[in-house]
Amino acid sequence: MAHIEGERELGAYLDEKERRLEEITTGLARLWFQQYVEKKRPAEIDALEEEQSRLLLDPELAEIISEFAGRVQEPLTARRVLAWQKALLAAQINARPEVFRLQNEIAARQVAYQPEYNHFPTDMATLRHIMRQDADPLHREEAWLAIAPLAKELEPQVRELLTLRNQLAQSLGYRTYVDLALYLQGLTREDVEDALKGLATRTQDLYMRCLHEESEHAGLLKIMPWDIMYLLERADGASPAYFPASQAERKVAEFLRGFGVELAGTGIRLVVTDIPYNGLTMTIEAPRDIRVLVNPRDGLGYYSTIFHEYGHALHAYYARPQSYILRHEAGVFSEAMAEVVAYFVNYPEWLAAMGLSAAEIRSALKARLLAQFSFLRQRSANALFEYLAYDNPSQNLNALYAAVQSQVVGHEIDPRPQWAANAWYTSYPVYWQNYVLAEVIASQTHRALQTRFGRVLGNPAAFAYVRDQFWAPAGGVDWQDKVRAATGDDWGIEALVGELLTAGAEHYPA
Ligand SMILES: [Zn+2]
Repeated sequence: MAHIEGERELGAYLDEKERRLEEITTGLARLWFQQYVEKKRPAEIDALEEEQSRLLLDPELAEIISEFAGRVQEPLTARRVLAWQKALLAAQINARPEVFRLQNEIAARQVAYQPEYNHFPTDMATLRHIMRQDADPLHREEAWLAIAPLAKELEPQVRELLTLRNQLAQSLGYRTYVDLALYLQGLTREDVEDALKGLATRTQDLYMRCLHEESEHAGLLKIMPWDIMYLLERADGASPAYFPASQAERKVAEFLRGFGVELAGTGIRLVVTDIPYNGLTMTIEAPRDIRVLVNPRDGLGYYSTIFHEYGHALHAYYARPQSYILRHEAGVFSEAMAEVVAYFVNYPEWLAAMGLSAAEIRSALKARLLAQFSFLRQRSANALFEYLAYDNPSQNLNALYAAVQSQVVGHEIDPRPQWAANAWYTSYPVYWQNYVLAEVIASQTHRALQTRFGRVLGNPAAFAYVRDQFWAPAGGVDWQDKVRAATGDDWGIEALVGELLTAGAEHYPA
């Protein structure tokens, strides 16, 4: 085995490993991009994924990292060792062939699944559209049920995947896989559960008022799972004509120009392609090649998605990590950075600049409150269910899922299969909380920016502040330290609770 003498030699050894890791990840990113555009998996992916997993599971590397962990003086090298330690720990589960083979097998089935509606083949986007827009509850129910056959079919395999991840996490000394996955992000289950449940409790009266007022309007006697998107996400509150898909890139460029930033000078470009998500940002080679993939449609919702994706892209573009391993940051922080940018579509000044009248802005913000509740509640429920599922994967997970969704989202219980069709539980485990905490952090950040700068939209100083405090240091500074330094406080739900209650008092007075 290689013998490493001192920190300087360790630095050189890590340089070499990171150089190879960067080559592999860049190669993989290109192939994944190709896969999204061409709709088929390039054959070279398997060999590169296997090489990546060999690198991350290399016992010599593991021994060297554990030998130096906690003993390095020089701050940058210490940070790199910690980042490597976490990457290797994650790989102990995610890079194991038995895990990623099972995971890929389930994911392939999810991608290939052809749902049916009314006995005709359809796609997920159409089903979502029906659940948002169709006034007939029977249609929405049928759309909701379209994934039930897949959920039923995949349940044994996804359960096996959960059990496998748990066993590996337990062999590494963690109670469940959830504890390990949250630790890798700098979180604890207790803190996350407190935040998610606190957010729900503190806004419960308002949320139930919104939900019931909307269901009365819609003439529903009972609120079922397939009614939630219809009640809360039906309207953008503003005419889609104000938000044409074809203008989105130009509008992002104008938005950035207001801050003194020329989009054309960055390595960020937009790629229109049919992907299974609303949007997806792929960093091929930062900073010079970052691609934002989108499924365009008219409307404020799309602009919110595209701003979110440009948030990811700007984060990647402005990151100046001192070493490659520090380019990777916790998923929760990355989502928060995307949301910090997406938050601007709720600024009345921005909506006014898009041509909306005062009355239209008010209606857009009312719709936004409902949509935000829908996202926060469903995602919190998805996360809380996942934690309980890992506590005991052999329990009746359909019943558990229905009970948690019903309790958090506020609809009736329907235990027909759903959860195992959800791609996140397979491909992005223990990720749901990140979307909720991202809004928590974005709200806190905007409150801090408003306090510090007064005018935030179109203020170059506010942009530079976010760039320098959050993006540039990358993983060289712990993300929670960045939040504390930039906002003057630990991350917490106060700003978001305050924001929701204020909007609620305006649009849904008690
Ligand atoms: Zn995102």
